[in-house]
Amino acid sequence: MDRRKFVGVAGLAGAAGLLGACADQTTARPACTESGSMETFTWKMVTSWPRDFPGLGTSANHLAESISKLSNGRLNIRVFGGNELVPPFEVFDAVTQGTAEMGHSATYYWKGKVPAAQYFAGIPFGMSAQELHGWIYHGGGLELWREVYAPYGLIPFLAGNSGPQMAGWFNREINSLDDLNGLKMRIPGPGGEILKRAGGTPQTIPGAELFTALQTGIIDATEWVGPYNDLAFGLFRAAKYYYYPGWHEPGTGLECMINKEAWDTLPADLQAIVEVACQAGVMETLSDFTYNNGVALRSLLNEHGVQLRRLPDEVLNHLREISDELMLEMASESELMGRIYASFNAYYDIVNPWTTISERTLVNLRPDS
Ligand code: CA
Repeated sequence: MDRRKFVGVAGLAGAAGLLGACADQTTARPACTESGSMETFTWKMVTSWPRDFPGLGTSANHLAESISKLSNGRLNIRVFGGNELVPPFEVFDAVTQGTAEMGHSATYYWKGKVPAAQYFAGIPFGMSAQELHGWIYHGGGLELWREVYAPYGLIPFLAGNSGPQMAGWFNREINSLDDLNGLKMRIPGPGGEILKRAGGTPQTIPGAELFTALQTGIIDATEWVGPYNDLAFGLFRAAKYYYYPGWHEPGTGLECMINKEAWDTLPADLQAIVEVACQAGVMETLSDFTYNNGVALRSLLNEHGVQLRRLPDEVLNHLREISDELMLEMASESELMGRIYASFNAYYDIVNPWTTISERTLVNLRPDS
């Protein structure tokens, strides 16, 4: 990618206008970086979400707005919803090829192309959001993620988290393992592979198509995210039962991927702004989901008469056994996946005893409400 492509006319004008400011040692303008760069950059961000979709599309918007404000307009990002510039599941390729400089998505969508990517969204029966963040930011996860994306010319950042998801919407009750047989369900990533091994037929369908697929019987069930997002799609109008817990996605990390050639054109201060804006995006998104999942769950139960169901222990235990097998198989697929799994597991062994005596104990002390 040609560096000059990122330099707008306004950027050149801005650079000329600020030469005086750069010469003034009393002003701490961000423009006066080591490189002296005052270029402005206009980037595209492609996403896997419907435009402005609550929690997901809005978190991409929020990230772009934060970067623009923090950079004082030096890095402007135009956000595209799924299918506006490229289809939702072509975000990875679009950013690799430089069609867009940034992408906002979730790593398990790249399972077919980059199997090692799946770990960074979290794994079935794996870690909570805050545990996952501990691994990515402090336990070696981010370095491994960057290693996985490097051959594709991409630099990944954690940019959000949905928190725990729901098992999904079902048009038939799940009372035993037999009820999974032949179940056509939209469920992406390793969760889908686990369902397949349990007798179901997993499908990967973009979010925007879920309602119709469920209502017309193309699928018997779908997971999407949680009450906040599922209410927004009106999925309660297309299925009878709403099942928990979201065994397949206990705390799904969202990603911001950046084309490396584009990244390399940014001066160091803009790179730092992007990095910190992504970290802030993680907190903002998780807070948004936590609050609004509670609000939406209340609405689904009290205003829409949704029938809430817990998956039977027999089903959950079976899915967990399959998940453990799958994780071992995945770890043997490549040397890199083996290292990622070892890192993930080593961290889990550190964090789980702590979670057991802290979060888990405290949450269990709460009376039901
Ligand atoms: Ca999901």
